Parts: sequence; C-alpha cells; structure tokens
Amino acid sequence: MEIFIETSALSYLLSQEILKKEYPLKVISSYNDFEWPYISFPELITLGKKKLFLLKHQGRFFRPCPGTKNYLCCGYQIFHFGEGCPLDCSYCILQAYFNRPGLKVWANLVEDGFQELERILERAQREKRILRIGTGEFADSLALESIVGVAEKLIHFWEEKKPLAVLELKTKVCPSEKFFVKFKSNPKIIFAWSVNTEKIIKEEEKATASLKARLESAKKAVERGFSCAFHFDPIIYYEGAEEEYPQVLEKILNSLPLEKIAWISLGTFRYPKELKEIAEKRFPQSKIYSQEFIEGLDGKKRYFVEIRKKLYQSFQKLIKETKDQVTFYFCMESERVWEEILGEKEYNSTKLIERLDKVALSLCKSAE
Ligand code: SF4
Repeated sequence: MEIFIETSALSYLLSQEILKKEYPLKVISSYNDFEWPYISFPELITLGKKKLFLLKHQGRFFRPCPGTKNYLCCGYQIFHFGEGCPLDCSYCILQAYFNRPGLKVWANLVEDGFQELERILERAQREKRILRIGTGEFADSLALESIVGVAEKLIHFWEEKKPLAVLELKTKVCPSEKFFVKFKSNPKIIFAWSVNTEKIIKEEEKATASLKARLESAKKAVERGFSCAFHFDPIIYYEGAEEEYPQVLEKILNSLPLEKIAWISLGTFRYPKELKEIAEKRFPQSKIYSQEFIEGLDGKKRYFVEIRKKLYQSFQKLIKETKDQVTFYFCMESERVWEEILGEKEYNSTKLIERLDKVALSLCKSAE
C-alpha cells in the first residue's frame, strides 16, 4: 500500500500517528493535483485500491444512510470516515459511486469529526432518541484498520462518552483476538460481517476473508463482550443458491449464542445501471450481471420479484425456528416481500426503525 498525505492534513492526529509508524509515505500538495496515469477508469479503480490518501475533509462527517427511494429504509446513520476499499468485490457499488480513484481517509476525523459526532449524540440523548451508527457505507469499516486505527478510536470514544447509541462496524475482514482484547467489553459495539456462500466469496469477493474465518472472528468478538450482526447482502442467484444460502445461515445460528446477534439482514443483488459496464470490464469472468433484471422503483436493477421471493423463502424455515430470538430484516425491499416472507402485514419504514431501535436500546441497557 502506498500512503500519501496532503500538506493540509499533516498536522492532524491521524496523520501524526501514521507518520510515527514510519510507513514509507509521500507528502503531496493536494489529492486534486495527484497525477494518475492515463488508463481507463476501471483500471484506475484497481490501481486506486493500492493508494491511500490522508486528506482534510471539508464536508460533514455525519449523515443519514442514503437508503433507496420507494423501498423500506432502516433509518441508519453514517459516520463518514473515508471513501473506498482495498478489498475487491465484483458487485461493489462503490465502483460506480465515486469518480475519484484511491482510498481516502479523513485526517481531521478526530479533531473535527468526533466533535460533530459528539454534538449529534448529545442532541439525540437530550431528545431521548437512540441512534444506530455505522461506518461501513462508503468503505469497509475495518479493512484499513491496521494503518489508520479509526475503529479503535471510535470504540474508545464509545467507552468514554457512553452514548445512547450503538456503533456497527461492517466488514469482510477478520480482526484477530489481539484486536478485540484491546477494549473493554461493550455490547453497544456491534461487529458485523457481510456474509455470502463460499462460492460467491471465492468467485466474487477478491481479497476478503473466508466464511469460516468471519465466523471465527465473530466468536472472538462475542467472547470479548461485543455484539455481532450479519448481513446477507447481496444474495446472488445461481443454481444451488437456494440450498447454499440457508446453510450459511445455519452455520451462523449454530456458531453463536443467539442473544449476542443484534440482527441479520437479507438483501438480494441490486445495482445502479452504471455499475454493470465498469464491473464487467474489471471482472470479465463474473457472471452475476448476465442474468435478467428489472428496473426497480429506485432506478436500480434487481431480480424479478419471483426470484427474490424464492431466495428469501429458502431462509424461511430457519428464520421461523429462531422463534423471534433473532431480529431479521430485509434491506431495501418492498412491503409485499415483507408480508409474503416474514408475514409482516402493512410493514413500513417506521415499524422497521422501531424494531431495530428496540434491539439497539436493549444493547445500550445491557451495557449499563
Ligand atoms: S468489502 Fe464492501 S466496500 Fe469493500 S469492495 Fe467489497 S463490497 Fe465494496
């Protein structure tokens, strides 16, 4: 990994810490002046995954999850620490989301970002509103942790400030026990793994940890007193998917105490139109874009509802067997799917938010 620090970002704590670690790095006048080679945009994305830039962020650090129009939204909030991911999934939406290559982490995160976060948390606490905050919307929450230590700082922040909020760290890497033992036990910190079948991990999730390793890491997190969560996202349709996805769920349910699982989400593959061309150039062997899709109400391509239902139905038996001991939800699905798969009548975003807030609140109470 090559590391670059903008001159304007040098004085910030994160940059100073990285400088002390004596990584080979270069100081640059500005990211905007960085000279990328003349190669195609898909090639630039690949190249950018090996270049980390520490920049001064000018905008807001805290924002609601963009969700998606016309589908149920879970009311998640994002602490925006940077953009881009060194891992390389063929379906990753970030490939089409950012037009600036490279991995970017905001160097002024502690000085400016934590102040903003503190203000938001204090206001929510005054209004007795619980917040569910994550960092993994525009980046993997832990993939750059050994260099930047952002999650570590956030976990310590949670220890010190004791906010009425849970922090979800979504990842596809596996921190070792050494990482978890750095912290005090805290159920308000949710280590969350995106999971998939071994086939999809092997074929479509380059550089990520195996399913087995993700589950081992989840066990270590739970043993250390943290909560965990899992996201089946994206669930990809292929021959055998309906047998293999429930097997993954079964492994999760058999590996961990159910009361330590904050939630499990399910979301079938969907993507913005622009992604296909970029991803097919970068992953010519991938077949995931060559299936039939419809354009959803949000303009994104998704499987026909019958396929989505078939995939979700494959989880139904196991979901029922948990007898509501685990909270399941669909990520960006229609009311119709909620009703037909989970038997939830007239479900809407408000009810979904209430359901997840209830879990978050109980985690906050158990941390007292
Ligand atoms: S781990 Fe997540 S953010 Fe990273 S490439 Fe895969 S989908 Fe994208």
